[in-house]
Amino acid sequence: MSKLPHIGTSIFTVMSQMASEHQAINLSQGFPNFPVDDRLTAILSRIAKENVHQYTPMSGLPSLLEKIAILTKETYGREIAAKEEILITAGATEGIFAAIQTLVKANEEVIILDPSYDCYEAPILLSNAKPIRVSLNNNFTPNWEVIFAAANEKTKLIIINNPHNPTGKMWAENDFVQLEKLVDAYPNLLVLSDEVYEYITFEQPHISVNHHPKLWHRSISVSSFGKSFHITGWKIGYVIAPENIMREIKKVHQFLVFSVSSIAQHALNEYIDLVDVKTLGGFYQQKRDFFRNLIKDTKLDLLPCEGTYFQVASYANISEENDLDFTKRLVTEFGVATIPISIFYANGKDNKCIRFCFAKDDKTLMQAAERLRQL
Ligand code: PMP
Ligand code: GLN
Repeated sequence: MSKLPHIGTSIFTVMSQMASEHQAINLSQGFPNFPVDDRLTAILSRIAKENVHQYTPMSGLPSLLEKIAILTKETYGREIAAKEEILITAGATEGIFAAIQTLVKANEEVIILDPSYDCYEAPILLSNAKPIRVSLNNNFTPNWEVIFAAANEKTKLIIINNPHNPTGKMWAENDFVQLEKLVDAYPNLLVLSDEVYEYITFEQPHISVNHHPKLWHRSISVSSFGKSFHITGWKIGYVIAPENIMREIKKVHQFLVFSVSSIAQHALNEYIDLVDVKTLGGFYQQKRDFFRNLIKDTKLDLLPCEGTYFQVASYANISEENDLDFTKRLVTEFGVATIPISIFYANGKDNKCIRFCFAKDDKTLMQAAERLRQL
């Protein structure tokens, strides 16, 4: 009966609900708890009285498209045609769904690198295609030997996520050398690059498919204003793809949503001129360091965190419970909600690791750490 029999309610919903039921500190679902920029709310209240309430063009407000093209040129050195190669979407989620539904046909295969974010599999299954889940190495770098072994003539897409949710790992230049070899070896294979945390990077700079001219004609990149401007609830992002692919993605987008929230697009069209996305990494690096310092004197072991606003920690020193049971007990007995890493694996691999979201104000992080010291 169900078209998606193995898919249940997302862990992010489950954990956020548990957090509110138990009045726990919610470091599970990834969203900031601090106020958005006053300049953005001022723009919103002013434009609410203006003519911004009707449909925008299907692919997005033309001036916002132009500004995204300029940002892409400044950030990645890639020149793109605003009207033809950019699509504003209802969050990265809709962009990913539309791209997969557009590109993947029945019986084709899509490589997903585990642990992986949860929104990739359903659109593949709804296309009657096959997700091929390939594990990353133990340090969460791509295992190119296994990826090459998994690829074949039926492989339509490889989905990459860099910086990576949940592990905070980032790709190195050599990974892109290997990716270029992969697309060279399989002429029908495309890359869907989920880069929603592109501006949340710390010691090392983010490397994008948009930096690599050899990948431009074979890649779709996905960005999220939710992450970059601390407005996850607005559900607005964008996709960049070469014109021939974008033309097809727009066919799906126009019947999924047609166009995206007009007021959000008008507000961002002004706000994007005021912000410097390059400061985001420093902002979150401070939070990462603050949180890591607080957690140092607990029994948790911190894994490296190169980007994103997630910190993974091992609780192997504390308990032998499986990670789902451990996170549930952490909410009910200690009042801190987190995400178990096993849910990001198709095979449910349990590394005894949990994910914290540190996009929170200092007070929240300090309170959480105090509770975690009781462990
Ligand atoms: N991809 C990843 C890796 C994410 O963490 C998220 C987070 N929500 C998304 C996609 C979806 O982004 P959006 O909220 O813009 O749909
Ligand atoms: N991306 C967010 C996270 O990883 C979750 C978004 C959602 O709840 N769908 O926590």
